Amino acid sequence: MPAVILPQTLDELLDLKAQGHTILAGGTDLFVHMRNKKIQPQTLVCLDQLKDKGLREVADTGDEICIGAAVTHSRLIQNPLVQQHFPVLIQALDTLGSPQIRNMGTLGGNIMTASPAGDSLPPLYVLDAQVELAGKNGSRRMSLSRFITGPGATGLNPEEILYRIWIPKQPSYDLHHFEKVGHRKSLSIAILSMAALIGLTGDRKIRAVRLAWGSLGKTIATSPETEKRLMGTPMDDPAGFILAAARIREEVSPISDVRAGADYRRQVAGNLVLRLCQGPLEPLKQGPGAV
Ligand SMILES: Cc1cc2nc3c(=O)[nH]c(=O)nc-3n(C[C@H](O)[C@H](O)[C@H](O)COP(=O)(O)OP(=O)(O)OC[C@H]3O[C@@H](n4cnc5c(N)ncnc54)[C@H](O)[C@@H]3O)c2cc1C
Repeated sequence: MPAVILPQTLDELLDLKAQGHTILAGGTDLFVHMRNKKIQPQTLVCLDQLKDKGLREVADTGDEICIGAAVTHSRLIQNPLVQQHFPVLIQALDTLGSPQIRNMGTLGGNIMTASPAGDSLPPLYVLDAQVELAGKNGSRRMSLSRFITGPGATGLNPEEILYRIWIPKQPSYDLHHFEKVGHRKSLSIAILSMAALIGLTGDRKIRAVRLAWGSLGKTIATSPETEKRLMGTPMDDPAGFILAAARIREEVSPISDVRAGADYRRQVAGNLVLRLCQGPLEPLKQGPGAV
């Protein structure tokens, strides 16, 4: 059994990280990897007793919402700022694991695991989230899409921690939507997932759209050609969505794995695009883009 250290301050945490120790947040991924002997750390640095607010709070900083990496999924789902500004993230976290996993697991842990099936990742991609990485020599920010470099791989330097996640408010998108296809409703890893943000004109034509896909490629996939195809489409015009569904099936190169083959994923990707016009999609609750 590894030793567990409980730092009280951010400085102590960064010292321990610089010494090469492994961070333990909720442990829902880490303990699975330890049990499978994928990793065997000598020491775990547990975040539970840290007094640092930055890692634990959700704050409104004006144009952005800042989320501490150690905030659990359950706390995010209940947070009024996240509910108001990022319904797409709430919808995704609602599907993650089970109540027990959501109570223990953190947003930072989900990002650091960097699984193509990580449920928070497609919403964070469409929301243009940035990660803040902290080390003894200061902190730096970069876009999440640059930070995640492959399955299980990130741009974190060994002496750094993932400190906070910064998400711009999204006044230009009216509708938020997340859908996950799995073998069952809970405790299910995504066979495919899609996050969508849609901005509408006064007569409900699409004037802005962002799509991101989980479990489709080796990292989160985007689909700029399909987004282009959707521009100008009236929300109540199935013909436009049928064309976009055909486009996504051409545009993507899905993976095949134990959960599903590439052809199945290609078919389902088109179906998820078709579902966008079948609603109801969740409107933003307040703000200039509200419908
Ligand atoms: C039964 C079960 C069901 C699950 N279902 C889902 C699901 O449906 N969808 C889904 O996306 N995931 C699922 N997961 C995976 C997991 O619960 C999530 O990825 C969770 O968000 C991980 O967070 P954690 O806090 O538990 O991370 P931990 O396990 O504590 O850490 C994960 C990794 O990140 C590192 N780390 C954590 N925080 C930091 C930090 N701040 N800075 C640097 N490194 C850090 C750790 O060292 C470790 O390497 C499931 C897991 C289990 C066991």
